[in-house]
Amino acid sequence: MALTLVGRNNPLASSAEQLRILNEETSAPAFEAKLSQARLFPLYATGISVFQINVGKLCNQTCRHCHVDAGPDRTESMSRETAELCVAALAGTDIPTVDLTGGAPELNPNFRWLVEQIGGLGRHVMDRCNLSVLLLPSQRDLAEFLASHRVEIIASLPYYRASQTDSQRGDGVFDKSIEALLLLNRHGYGRPDSGLALNLIYNPVGAYLPPQQEAMEARFRNELRVRHGVEFTHLYTITNMPISRFLEFLIESGNYAGYMERLANAFNPAAAAGVMCRYTLSVGWDGTLYDCDFNQMLELPVDREAPNHIRDFNPALLASRRIVTRNHCYGCTAGSGSSCGGAVTT
Ligand code: SF4
Repeated sequence: MALTLVGRNNPLASSAEQLRILNEETSAPAFEAKLSQARLFPLYATGISVFQINVGKLCNQTCRHCHVDAGPDRTESMSRETAELCVAALAGTDIPTVDLTGGAPELNPNFRWLVEQIGGLGRHVMDRCNLSVLLLPSQRDLAEFLASHRVEIIASLPYYRASQTDSQRGDGVFDKSIEALLLLNRHGYGRPDSGLALNLIYNPVGAYLPPQQEAMEARFRNELRVRHGVEFTHLYTITNMPISRFLEFLIESGNYAGYMERLANAFNPAAAAGVMCRYTLSVGWDGTLYDCDFNQMLELPVDREAPNHIRDFNPALLASRRIVTRNHCYGCTAGSGSSCGGAVTT
């Protein structure tokens, strides 16, 4: 049976239904009211230093908390034509970092072409990797490819123990993740002198906020090193966004209202001032432009004053655009915020 919301014909597969729920009154005030109190409303971009490209929703996994509703049954995929428009747009700017995400971005037929083209422009490339993709027979040379192009890897690993990771990402995923991490280590990733960054993403397994990043990084480093001989560069903790499959989990477990209240109570004006949408532009698989990957999944394109498709890319207008915010944005502003090196996904 398909596990994606789309594959199950779940009403939450509709972004309109998700937005309807997010708009419903809970004890949490509207996000815009909190922004106003912090003198941040309306929120504007401060530039573009991260160009995020979501190449599609196909993935070899079907993780329970996926905000993309990605899975093996998703067919949305960026075409070469749209990928070329992305490269052409980038070439006319000095945006230093490109963040490739999906789904499992490596499964898009244009992924390696994009890495080569973007690297050829002298830009830093980040790959949002689910790790297990590296073990697929069709991707046997992927680790070597990524290392040879100096691609930074941002890999999701919900926990350093199998039971918690597998409960969120599927049976056997933890063991595959460890095997993939060791493979990356053999190619130099995560080794102090290699310059090949291997960063991990931790997100809570349940309806709670992530713990302190530094403490969690130390715990992961010790456990992964001692038990598995795995090395990594940094660990980022992120908050689960109340959208898509995590929203389904919140509603089914009776945690939705309480989780929204917890996020709102943890609103941090400093985190709000530094949210990634202020310096990121996110391109969807069909070329539509968004403020971030979350707005992308809710089908909320950039403000109408700015061009909303990559074919009409205008860096000056987009760099100062007004950000489209809704109540899910509480997920970015709780506690110390969710930044993970430029953008959050996978
Ligand atoms: S969800 Fe997107 S638009 Fe909202 S605060 Fe986070 S990054 Fe910005």
